[in-house]
Amino acid sequence: FVVFSDVQKTYDGEILVVKNLNLTIERGEFLTLLGPSGSGKTTTLMMLAGFEVPTHGRIEIDKVEVNNVAPHKRNIGMVFQNYALFPHMTVEENLAFPLQVRKVPKSEIAAKVERALDMVQMPAMGKRRPAQLSGGQQQRVALARALVFDPKLVLMDEPLGALDKQLREHMQIEIKHIHERLGVTIVYVTHDQSEALTMSDRVAVFNDGIIQQLARPADLYERPENSFVAQFIGENN
Ligand code: ATP
Repeated sequence: FVVFSDVQKTYDGEILVVKNLNLTIERGEFLTLLGPSGSGKTTTLMMLAGFEVPTHGRIEIDKVEVNNVAPHKRNIGMVFQNYALFPHMTVEENLAFPLQVRKVPKSEIAAKVERALDMVQMPAMGKRRPAQLSGGQQQRVALARALVFDPKLVLMDEPLGALDKQLREHMQIEIKHIHERLGVTIVYVTHDQSEALTMSDRVAVFNDGIIQQLARPADLYERPENSFVAQFIGENN
């Protein structure tokens, strides 16, 4: 479904932030990019979103190179830790916006917005503005906004990073639930080992711009391929 072939990324003609990445993501998979700060996870996600262009190599979604598709036609939903909602719009307006951009007929918008709010368990809050919601509720709305146009791929970069531990664990379960229900492909970035191990079908452990190991959570834990993976997976567990 998604194929990275020999992808490299250099900023400012200097250091290689992502080094020769080869990776295939299956349709419907929950794949997590896990690694310490600065290991190249966000850069990899930004290239998949089409926001950054690889210095070398190519990234294809359904056999089409990402950068050959106009942004609004990429059909990719995104949730970031600091991906703010529009403050002057209500929750419903925030969710209607990506549908309007995609020229969804007016008659279909209200139903799609309602369904997305139900999905994240936020019905009856559509008339509020973001400032009238808690941080956790805002992040649910951001999640609903990423799902409302039925994307074929959803990218999440530390979406729960700003939430307290209890809420974070709760949202992890909900996101997993949504993934199972919708069968959408999710690529998730985190530096939190336990989050990666609980939520993912497979985890790519990054360090220094290289995937150190790509495996199912149990295999990472039981059969780490090198000392970096063993140590990183072992921390905080
Ligand atoms: P974090 O969890 O801290 O976001 P990360 O694993 O996602 O880390 P990246 O954000 O991909 O890592 O950053 C990898 C390296 O690239 C870092 O050294 C960073 O300073 C550098 N970098 C990222 N974005 C840019 C940019 N726009 N210009 C120059 N250097 C950048």
